Amino acid sequence: MSERAAPFYCPYCGDEDLRPHETGHGAWECAACNRAFQLKFLGLLSRGLTTDDGGGDEI
Ligand SMILES: [Zn+2]
Repeated sequence: MSERAAPFYCPYCGDEDLRPHETGHGAWECAACNRAFQLKFLGLLSRGLTTDDGGGDEI
């Protein structure tokens, strides 16, 4: 839930040369492909945490 969530790779070209965009607010720019994009937290998934009850064997 952090505002600091940082991408490791550009979602468009896959490069790692990312730097914060001047607008802030989760905006990043890629020095490799010159794209600017923004990360946004949309909310939690409704399914909640999974409990892995598929096998029935603990450990
Ligand atoms: Zn890129």
